[in-house]
Amino acid sequence: MNASSPNKVPHILFLFSDTGGGHRSAATAIIGALEAEFPGQATWEMLDFFKHYAPPPFDTAPDTYAPMAQIPDLWELGFIASNQRITARAIQRVLWPYVRKAVARLIAEHPCDMLLSVHPIINTPLLRGLPKDRPPYLVVVTDMVSTHQWWYTPQADLTIVPTEEARQRGISLGLDPKRMHVVGLPIARQFAAPMAKPQARNKLELPQDIPLVLMVSGGEGMGPLEETVRAIINQRVPVGMVIITGKNADLKARLESLDFPYPAAIRGFVDNMPDYMQACDVIITKAGPGTISEAFTAGLPILLYSKMPGQEDGNVDYVVNHEAGVWMDDPAGVAETLQRWIDNPVEMRKFSQNSLNLARPDSSKIIAQTAMAMLGRYPFEQIHYYDQS
Ligand code: UDP
Repeated sequence: MNASSPNKVPHILFLFSDTGGGHRSAATAIIGALEAEFPGQATWEMLDFFKHYAPPPFDTAPDTYAPMAQIPDLWELGFIASNQRITARAIQRVLWPYVRKAVARLIAEHPCDMLLSVHPIINTPLLRGLPKDRPPYLVVVTDMVSTHQWWYTPQADLTIVPTEEARQRGISLGLDPKRMHVVGLPIARQFAAPMAKPQARNKLELPQDIPLVLMVSGGEGMGPLEETVRAIINQRVPVGMVIITGKNADLKARLESLDFPYPAAIRGFVDNMPDYMQACDVIITKAGPGTISEAFTAGLPILLYSKMPGQEDGNVDYVVNHEAGVWMDDPAGVAETLQRWIDNPVEMRKFSQNSLNLARPDSSKIIAQTAMAMLGRYPFEQIHYYDQS
């Protein structure tokens, strides 16, 4: 590992890809924390390595991710097949001759003092291609519990995970426990300093006098969101709906043509999710790790209606086992549960409190401190991790 010169402002290369919204959100959140906590003390760039360096056909991954992920069986098959101890390594080995040149080009074209990866796929090949006196390498895992093996690379200097479950998995796969820390999933620092509910509703031009349910489906607008909205309309659950369709413009247009019995606001991709979470009373969402972690900070009871099989199974278990919410993949069942929560404020408050108990609003700050510590610019002893053993 090569420490940067103490007089130079260090440059951090963030490795991510737009396969889902979570990797970009995580990188942006850490950058926000670096800007706030260490102003002027580091520079950075974000690199979508799939788009710019992966050989064809993998360079189209950011565009093909959403359509592929809409076929759950295919996704699950790919996840399970690639996530076995033997296959996970074999795939990386087989692909190495194919990606080696691209890895060399990436390294040559992006000199830096530190690499910070928020994606599982790049770590093994990149660490293999880097020279011995390479800069420090930090992996920030952005899946909560059912983490793919590719996240865990023994050659990485440190691996940050969102939960103790994810740390134990890393240990079981041979990582040094001293080089793994539980911090939480990186979320934007704005989630740590929320606005009061009435203020958030005013700002977003939402009604004050009705419970509001926030409906989201990841950055891409995936899962049976439309059917779920229709079920809530059909059962006339007395809630206002705030529906965020992310990048899915067709879904937005279809929802705008529906007849809502109560107030409804339909938005495309929003860049102020903290305000939306604060303005609402319940969240109905796909089991995306980013959205779930953000909902914890707002103390929202969570109704999970869809998941990416394999990859997001553990997220569902985590929410359900901690009683921060429920899993309900039947649209009519979602509407019934929502009605029950509206009728039973005590039950809803219990889920809300449990959700808040799981919040890690300072996660991005801790990751920023860790990155600076690895660069020799912050004392490791002052960092508070959540490791249990
Ligand atoms: N998101 C956003 N604006 C939107 C929709 C989603 O900022 O309009 C963010 C959301 O707050 C979260 C991320 O996109 O940080 C989605 O990540 P998640 O892990 O929940 O799901 P993914 O899209 O990666 O499957």
